[in-house]
Amino acid sequence: MAEHVAILGGGTGGTVLANDLADRLDAEIDAGDVEVTLINDDPDHVYKPVWLYVPFGQREPPDGRRPLRELVDDRIDLTIDRVTGIDADAKELALRDGPGSLAYDHLVVATGSTLAPAEIPGLAEAGHDYYSESGALALRDELLSMTEGHLVLSVIGTPHMCPAAPLEFVFMADDWLRERGLRDEVDVTYTYPINRVHGNPHIGEWAEPIMEERDIDTETFFNAESVDPDAKTITSMEGTELDYDLLAAIPPHRGVDAVDEAGLGDRGWVDVDKHTLEAERADDVYALGDAATTGVPKAGSVAHYQAGVVAERLASEVRGRPATATYDGKTLCFIETGMDAASFVEFDYENAPSPAPASEKLHWSKLAYNESYWLTARGLL
Ligand SMILES: Cc1cc2nc3c(=O)[nH]c(=O)nc-3n(C[C@H](O)[C@H](O)[C@H](O)COP(=O)(O)OP(=O)(O)OC[C@H]3O[C@@H](n4cnc5c(N)ncnc54)[C@H](O)[C@@H]3O)c2cc1C
Repeated sequence: MAEHVAILGGGTGGTVLANDLADRLDAEIDAGDVEVTLINDDPDHVYKPVWLYVPFGQREPPDGRRPLRELVDDRIDLTIDRVTGIDADAKELALRDGPGSLAYDHLVVATGSTLAPAEIPGLAEAGHDYYSESGALALRDELLSMTEGHLVLSVIGTPHMCPAAPLEFVFMADDWLRERGLRDEVDVTYTYPINRVHGNPHIGEWAEPIMEERDIDTETFFNAESVDPDAKTITSMEGTELDYDLLAAIPPHRGVDAVDEAGLGDRGWVDVDKHTLEAERADDVYALGDAATTGVPKAGSVAHYQAGVVAERLASEVRGRPATATYDGKTLCFIETGMDAASFVEFDYENAPSPAPASEKLHWSKLAYNESYWLTARGLL
């Protein structure tokens, strides 16, 4: 009987992993000894970094969507369904639509992040975000009609996807407003929950002077507690109240309920060993990308590198050999510093980030990467 690998989630990490396994285990799959199933609740694969550009009219949400079947190797069984339960003892997945459950020998959880704006009273009605397709489109409409007032970018929940994206948004908004001759009429404020403007102290130290130079006000130690859509105020647990005309918020994030219900972790994030990516609370389960609690940013580059490690380990396991590949915390990120310049950081568990001087070349490198992403997802880059 074939050994069955089930990958739960066909985003960046799950898709790269499926294609990597199809390549690595081609002989075993062709011989019928190994079967790989990728389960995703959307027939499309979604590339979220495109959403950063939507509010500024530079991209449309469909630019970040492709049919998953076109990206995934034919040797992978693709199931479009939602997993509603994980039984890590019986090694079975419950599917919302499918007939019966799906048995596995090895499970990889790659379910990504989910937005939870309802955790902050008033946020869903009042706040806009670019962390979803609909949010990015709504923010674009608001931003286009804004000619004066106060734009507040509030990072509400941490951890959140792409820790650099809130900095990128205010740097881009500042530049975009200047280009349109509106910057003197629009005040920009950035709020962050801890005592600096970014979770990583090195990136925070780099970003703070840029904000100061560009008159981007900052409110640190600002943990949003509630939003009043009528009064247009956002209030923090620390007792600060800010008036806004347009609120762009990074809502609280969580993973999927099935992870908590299976006892694999909390808030939908799977507890894993940060080097092997093995689940700490179940056997034969890995987690990667946003769903895994490794302490590194929730970023596509992380999901990509982790997928390579998990693929190597699974290939060893199905061949009855010791799994030796480990993840070293490698993270790579371009950071837009305006509409036509970007910086770049690369770091891991041992080495801290040191942002590169911003340049137009790095900005074009980021845009080029966004275009070539579809080859990355296919496993070709
Ligand atoms: C605005 C924005 C900008 C970003 N910019 C960057 C950037 O510049 N660089 C970078 O590295 N990262 C960036 N990111 C972060 C990056 O998109 C994520 O970290 C990455 O997508 C995580 O990959 P993943 O595979 O863990 O999860 P995802 O890509 O989110 O995939 C998870 C998949 O699982 C599916 N799923 C979830 N639950 C279930 C279920 N129960 N049953 C079936 N399917 C399920 C989902 O539908 C989804 O397809 C950005 C994110 C945002 C929002």
